[in-house]
This record gives sequence, C-alpha cells and structure tokens, in this order.
Amino acid sequence: MDLLIKNAVINNLTTDVLISDGRIIKIAQNINVPSKTLIDAAGKYIVPSLKNGHTHSGMTLLRGYADDMKLQPWLEEKIWPAEAKLTPDAIYWGTRAAALEMIKSGTTFCNDMYFNFEMSQKAYIDSGIKSASGPALFDFFDPVKAKDMKINCNSAIENTDISQNNSLSLAAHSIYTLSRESLEWIADLATSKKIPVHIHLSETEKEVAECITRYGIRPAELLRETGLLDINLIAAHTIWLDDYEIDLLAEHNVTVVHNPVSNMKIATGGVFPYSKFKERGIRMMLGTDGCSSNNSLDMFEDMKVAALLQKFHTNDPEIMKAEEIFNTAAGTDTSIFPQLSSQIKEGAHADCLLLNQNTPELVPSHHLISNLVYSANGSCVDTVICNGKILMEHRRVKDEEEIIERIRSISEELYG
Ligand SMILES: [Zn+2]
Repeated sequence: MDLLIKNAVINNLTTDVLISDGRIIKIAQNINVPSKTLIDAAGKYIVPSLKNGHTHSGMTLLRGYADDMKLQPWLEEKIWPAEAKLTPDAIYWGTRAAALEMIKSGTTFCNDMYFNFEMSQKAYIDSGIKSASGPALFDFFDPVKAKDMKINCNSAIENTDISQNNSLSLAAHSIYTLSRESLEWIADLATSKKIPVHIHLSETEKEVAECITRYGIRPAELLRETGLLDINLIAAHTIWLDDYEIDLLAEHNVTVVHNPVSNMKIATGGVFPYSKFKERGIRMMLGTDGCSSNNSLDMFEDMKVAALLQKFHTNDPEIMKAEEIFNTAAGTDTSIFPQLSSQIKEGAHADCLLLNQNTPELVPSHHLISNLVYSANGSCVDTVICNGKILMEHRRVKDEEEIIERIRSISEELYG
C-alpha cells in the first residue's frame, strides 16, 4: 500500500485512511497493513482538498503589476503588453509559483487558461498537482490570426501527452476575442475530440452590450448558436445573464465558475446569480481567477468572500451557507474532470488536507466547516496529499526556495 494515514479526525471520529494508486481504498479504525509511507495524523482533521475552477497560473509574474484599473484599459494598456514579454521559461516558472501557492493553501487542482499550455502542463506535472489546461484560443476577429490559431491548436493537441490527472480543456478566451466562425470551429473540435471547453462568459455588462450590437443576441444564445452549449462547457464568471440564458445553461448542463474576489476587485458591477443557479441545479465551481486580478490563489479567501458577497448583496444571511460554499470549493465529481473527487470516502481520489486541531483559527471547534470558511486561511493547512502523494508536510514543499528565487529573477529581468 502506498500511504497509511493513522488517527485522522473525520466528523469527530478518529480513524485511519488507507491510500493506494491515488485512491482512498479504506477508511476504518486500526488499519494495520504495511505501507510505503505512514503519516501519524493524531490531532489533525482530514478534509477534501480545494479545487480551483478558473485561473491563469502564468500570471503570478504579474502579481501587483497593475491594480486599481477598469477591466478594458487594465487588459489593453497593462496586462496584454506585459504578457507579450513572457517567454516559455517564464510561463513554466510562473506556473510552478502558482502551483506552489496553491499547494501551500490547500488546492490540488486547477482549471487553467494561459499561453504555452505545454509549459504550464509540465509545471503542474513537476509540482504534483492535477490540472486541466489547453491551447489558448483567440483571434481578435482577424482571419489571419484565426488561421494560425487553428494550426497551432491542432498541432498542440496532436503533440501533447495527456494524462488523466493533467487533462485537456480548450481555453477559448471569450466571445469578445473570438469570431463567430472560430467559436463554431472550437465547438466542432471539442465534439470530435471529446475535450471540454473553458471560456469567460458574461463577466461585464459591456461584453453583453457588444454581443447584442454585433450579433443581435445575448452571449449564452451565441454560445448555443455556435454549438458551444452542446459540449462540456466550463464558463467562468457568468454574472450578466438573464433568466432565459440561465435556463439555457441549465438545459445544456454547463458548469459555471464563480470568481468573487476578481469580480469585486475589477468591479464587474453585477453579482454571480447564485440562487438562480442553485434553483436550477446548475453545477458550480469556485475559482480565484488570475493572480493579477485577485491577487492571491488562496481558495480559503474566495470561499469566505463568496459567502459574504451573496449575503451582503441579497440582504440574506441564510444564503450560501458554509457547507454549500465549502462543497463547491472542494470540487465536483463529474465527467468533465474525472480526476476529481469532492469527498473523503472509500473509492474517492486521494486528494486531501490535514489541518492541526490546535491551529488558533480552528479553535474552538463548534463547527469545523464554518471555521474553514469564515475563520481559516490557506496557511492553516499542515499537509497536502494529491493523487495519494504528499506534496506538503508540516508546510514544507519540495523545490520551494528555487521557485521563489526563479520568480524574483525572471520578474526583475522582464519588468525591471
Ligand atoms: Zn479569467
């Protein structure tokens, strides 16, 4: 057996957890079998790890580079010119830094959208976390760019070794950076290759207004017309939707990703329509968004902010209870990301966290999940296990010093 965790606390019960081939195979008291690795988790809670549904990991190099600006000038004047300087090596180390931050704050999976995804994917594999990533797709309505995009995308898919833990998701940037013809092409490709598509959807009111001007219909209707609702679609932000569009997302089983900190920082103006998604049984995930619009990848922060934002916005403290947002952040058992499990149970993927019961933020423990959502932060996590492997123990992560050093020197080199 690969890993035996002794004396961990689940639901106030002290128990052992046996892990083999990346799965939890037994949860019981007094398991005594030989194992390659043994963790004594006496005095520690075991909980599912967090899963980041939408991020741009390579952007760690732009943390704090440009803040306090409106979305469009922020992108056009600051972020896109700075990104133009990023080399494949910079993206590799930027993603290693993102993975390091995620591990240190209890996240073991991210759904990424960035350039040079081959470098990001290598970084995830080297870091040990699970991921979904794929070619970044945008054409800015230019047929020459669209042609290059298709050639590059096809060759990237052909030449990439995809494992189940580090899977493909086509990173279709948005309806405002992709022509209708390219959106249709992406839907066809996703259908034929059975790959999910990851897109930004209705983040700002401006995006909706431009869509109506250009096409005479709203964004979700455009996704339906281009075939993107007929595939596995993961849509980030999903703020400015009308009821008909929300019905469309429900009907087509779209996964929506809430990014509360990024939305509030960029002041997108609207609020994720949580109750309407919940009523219709729409699958939800939580995400940090990129490191330059958050600027942290700590999902504990996003859990708390998500819950507070809903309560404040609706004037209803009963909306988005701690369990609801914790379960959303712990991920989802779906065919879209088969590498994920959201619970600690036999048969689940062995992606979990150990937290010391004596951590001040977790004492007293009237209600563990409430403490995790409203009191804890990423630095309360003691040990991180992903795919049955220990990625952090007593807050030490392999290669940490080298990653920090590299990020400092690359950032200095590129941005002075
Ligand atoms: Zn984003």
